[in-house]
Amino acid sequence: MHTNRGILFGCCLAIAVSLYAAGAQQEAPRKVRVVIVDGQNNHDWRSTTPFMKRVLEESGRFEVDVSSYLRPGDKPGRVPTIPFPPDLSKYDVVLSNYNGGPWPAEFQKEFESRLREGKIGLVIVHAANNAFGNWQEYNRMIGLGWRNPKQGDRIYLNDKGELVRLPSGKGDGSGHRYTGEFTVVIRDADHPITRGLPREWRHTRDELYDNLRGPAENLHILATAFSKGTGVHEPIVWTVSYGQGRVFHTPLGHDLNGMRCIGFITILRRGTEWAATGQVTIPVPDNFPTADKTSAVKD
Ligand SMILES: [Zn+2]
Repeated sequence: MHTNRGILFGCCLAIAVSLYAAGAQQEAPRKVRVVIVDGQNNHDWRSTTPFMKRVLEESGRFEVDVSSYLRPGDKPGRVPTIPFPPDLSKYDVVLSNYNGGPWPAEFQKEFESRLREGKIGLVIVHAANNAFGNWQEYNRMIGLGWRNPKQGDRIYLNDKGELVRLPSGKGDGSGHRYTGEFTVVIRDADHPITRGLPREWRHTRDELYDNLRGPAENLHILATAFSKGTGVHEPIVWTVSYGQGRVFHTPLGHDLNGMRCIGFITILRRGTEWAATGQVTIPVPDNFPTADKTSAVKD
């Protein structure tokens, strides 16, 4: 018996040591390299970019550069930047906080092909989906954007949770017919980004985008929010497959008030990790908002 126990113990120890070694290797994966593009936006990018950079980096999973495409004569933002356009080969994912003039054609083409080949991911936050209405491939990447009624289909969920697709030309153009606190409802709890989140959570005061429009191809809705402005469930978190590329898109995050929500911060971190790697390792924090109660960081 003693001998057997000794063998058993030795065996367990060996397994434990090898598990520890494997665990140690897994605990320090290479950080996800993010480049935030900003510099033009009808929103306060000078405060929201530093906030997003900080909350991504504080998770310990990302290293974040910022590249600002400024209009001539405009002042730079608050954080140090790399030149625009960024060298995309150095990054795993682009986070767009940009709503302005067209990017240089060469950069557009390079970005399209890198995303299509799955060499880089894309994250779209709020007004970034207002940009580039005439850039066909961008519309396909983001799925839905702030557009007029003729610029693509409109997608929403009815009260039964069924997806309704209104064709281009029918219905209203994009807006935010409701602004305030609202409830986000998870529609796919099995996706890496949403796994483990409460089915419903209360979001801090924000613009609730509605009637977004676009080609909506290969689009997967992860969460919706009921808009008192339109009376239907508007897509509020989704992904798009663009070739081999992964796109994470949320119209949340009008300003710092919307971004301080722990729900926003959590899906931004998880969505960015997923767009870059296809996996999510970032846990759901204990102070995540509930169905009845918002939860936000102080600054
Ligand atoms: Zn806004």
